[in-house]
Amino acid sequence: MLKNKVAVVTGGAGFIGSHTVDKLLAEDFEVRVIDNFYSGRLENLAHLSGNPNLTVNEQDIRSLNANNVVFKDADIVIHFAGIGDIVPSINSPKEYMDVNVGGTINVLEACRANSIKKLVYAASSSCYGIATVPTSENAPIQTKYPYALAKYQGEQACLHWQTVYKLPVNSIRIFNAYGVRSRTSGAYGAVFGVFLKQKLESRPFTVVGDGKQSRDFLYVTDVADAFFRASTTKKNGIIWNLGAGAPQSINKLAGLLGGERVSIPKRPGEPDVTWADSSKIRSDLGWYPKVSFEEGVSLVLENIEYWREAPLWDQKSIEKATETWFSKMCD
Ligand code: UDP
Repeated sequence: MLKNKVAVVTGGAGFIGSHTVDKLLAEDFEVRVIDNFYSGRLENLAHLSGNPNLTVNEQDIRSLNANNVVFKDADIVIHFAGIGDIVPSINSPKEYMDVNVGGTINVLEACRANSIKKLVYAASSSCYGIATVPTSENAPIQTKYPYALAKYQGEQACLHWQTVYKLPVNSIRIFNAYGVRSRTSGAYGAVFGVFLKQKLESRPFTVVGDGKQSRDFLYVTDVADAFFRASTTKKNGIIWNLGAGAPQSINKLAGLLGGERVSIPKRPGEPDVTWADSSKIRSDLGWYPKVSFEEGVSLVLENIEYWREAPLWDQKSIEKATETWFSKMCD
């Protein structure tokens, strides 16, 4: 019998990571997850328990050794492990650099030591700051807060390891991913988690500004599909923007979720529109989004109980949580 190909997924118990694990297992890979369970949740992999092709290893990438056995004989590595959210990155820049840059370098060294055939890095569209839209991969880099800087430097490190050590890498700059398992671990974060918990508690949606701003939301299984393709293609050294290519307004999201709304102040440094020019990934990898925004939102609503234990935000607590944001950032 042919041996299954082996994939290591760092951050595999997280939101996008766990959906990528689903995809890899469905494609007959042996999957080894690395996660420190800081924001990742074992619950995200619970439906896979007992699967003989999955192993889960508790490990912080900051202390990952190049000869860690998890990487032995692995074919591909998909690197999601890292910390997100804007406000805590402004408060703790060193931690963000340690995890998202230093941790990435540890992953790169483990890849190099084990002659991995492909590393795919989960990068962030936050590297573009406030960009002209639709945004191509050649748009100028403007990192406006430490999270954006750290994710960008992690990507630069990956490309450097390809140049200097011939490690085959690709990078995907994710725009706004959403979907089941998107909960954050406490910090004020992505809009879906905020609104879903508010809906569960029959509280009004805290809509920023006039709600006309839009985001290029992409359903998480479409994100996972892109990572799968990027890790199994022969192409190397490529950066792709990843979005549905169809920005949706926050008012539309609030309307689809259904509920009262309350307006909160517009935040400095926030783009009015994010919109990926995803023509490159479409033509290079034959990728295209399969889940429409309406379908994605209804999938999330079907699973709304997942957000039951998520933090509940209101005008007052958001104001407090974003104090640093307002004081440290400007347009
Ligand atoms: N947003 C909102 N209310 C919230 C949180 C976010 O209206 O309580 C809006 C925000 O203005 C932005 C969009 O939702 O237009 C997405 O915000 P998120 O923080 O999820 O992503 P990012 O701004 O980083 O793209």
